[in-house]
Amino acid sequence: MSVRRKLFGPTSFAPSVHSISLDLLEAGGARAIIVDLDNTLVGYRNPAPALEVHEWIRGALGRGFKVAMVTNNASPWADGVAAGLGIPCVLAARKPRSRGFLTALDVLGAGREETVVIGDQLFTDVLGAKLLGLRVILTEPIVAREQWWMRLVRLAERLMIRRLPRS
Ligand SMILES: [Mg+2]
Repeated sequence: MSVRRKLFGPTSFAPSVHSISLDLLEAGGARAIIVDLDNTLVGYRNPAPALEVHEWIRGALGRGFKVAMVTNNASPWADGVAAGLGIPCVLAARKPRSRGFLTALDVLGAGREETVVIGDQLFTDVLGAKLLGLRVILTEPIVAREQWWMRLVRLAERLMIRRLPRS
């Protein structure tokens, strides 16, 4: 396995968080979900998650999944989104660093092998998850307009993704 694949190759891809099959997650042995906030649960400058996102989280909790949010966002608003979804949250996680993910695993009481990370960014969500040996699903960003620097990050991500073998 190439280093690129090892560090940046998501376990799978999904168009959105709410398109991810909870049946498949469960069948794959997942019991815990760590989800990103910005552009995964909400779009840029969207204050609240869409109804489908609420329902997906509620469905996951209802089936007994442990769910936490891990975000690099540090604002009280981010905390409020997690509270609204009824899930614990690690703010200012500084992904791809491990500490935020480890805190979430601790809070959830979940092992690495039973946890799946869901996020929209290669350099934070995917890299951070892979460094800890966690499964990770890369979603397409919920986004209408992004800051100029984020467009550069997206370009770099697309170049990288194009070179990854699909599983
Ligand atoms: Mg994100």
